[in-house]
Amino acid sequence: MTTVSSNTNNNGANLSSSTADLDLRQNGVTAIRPDRSTAYGESTNAKPVSDESSDESQLAMMDAVRTMLLSLGEDPEREGLLKTPKRVAEAMRFLTSGYSQSLDDLVNNAIFDEGHNEMVLVRDITLFSLCEHHMLPFMGRAHVAYIPKQRVVGLSKLARIVEMYSRRLQVQERLTRQVAEAIQEVLDPQGVAVVVEASHMCMSMRGVQKPGSWTVTSAMIGCFQEDSKTREEFLSLVRHQPSLF
Ligand SMILES: [Zn+2]
Repeated sequence: MTTVSSNTNNNGANLSSSTADLDLRQNGVTAIRPDRSTAYGESTNAKPVSDESSDESQLAMMDAVRTMLLSLGEDPEREGLLKTPKRVAEAMRFLTSGYSQSLDDLVNNAIFDEGHNEMVLVRDITLFSLCEHHMLPFMGRAHVAYIPKQRVVGLSKLARIVEMYSRRLQVQERLTRQVAEAIQEVLDPQGVAVVVEASHMCMSMRGVQKPGSWTVTSAMIGCFQEDSKTREEFLSLVRHQPSLF
């Protein structure tokens, strides 16, 4: 039997990053953040924001926002803008909080040996991310499926994985691939399929100004890549509109 779950309200919004922070502190690790992108094929010098430096980086961000407001010809001292640098810094911290989360902490204790070997699909996982080219939002839905080799993961964890990778500076293609590879890594299933449909504000509000355009990306691993029937089943389940609600 195929399991299909539709997640229209992504309620994982309050996922705390404290566990990951705690681990970093306990181990005295200043390693590169998990899953950080590479630069020219090499690891980047990006460092996790430790507790000690977070106040400092918050102030630096607030200064940067003030500079930006001045550069736009605005007056950062006028009433409506007084608290804007602080608000923007806090919003950016939240919108990139996926950097301080790790896959291990995220799926911790939620892998079950169910002997289930049929497709599990969670559709319509709402996602909000920031494109790394313009730092403008892109938003849409992810559909995530895998075919287990006995082991399954709690369904909500699939949404959490999407959320962790979304809350970083991203390109949609990489986000899609990272979600698929993360599931492959934690479950070693027979295959993983991820489709992301998103609308990019950098396309809608500026540039080509084409509101209503959607970008669709997919990543297929294992049996979804090798077996066209399995892939077709997944795609038809994604296309099918459920009439339950
Ligand atoms: Zn962009």
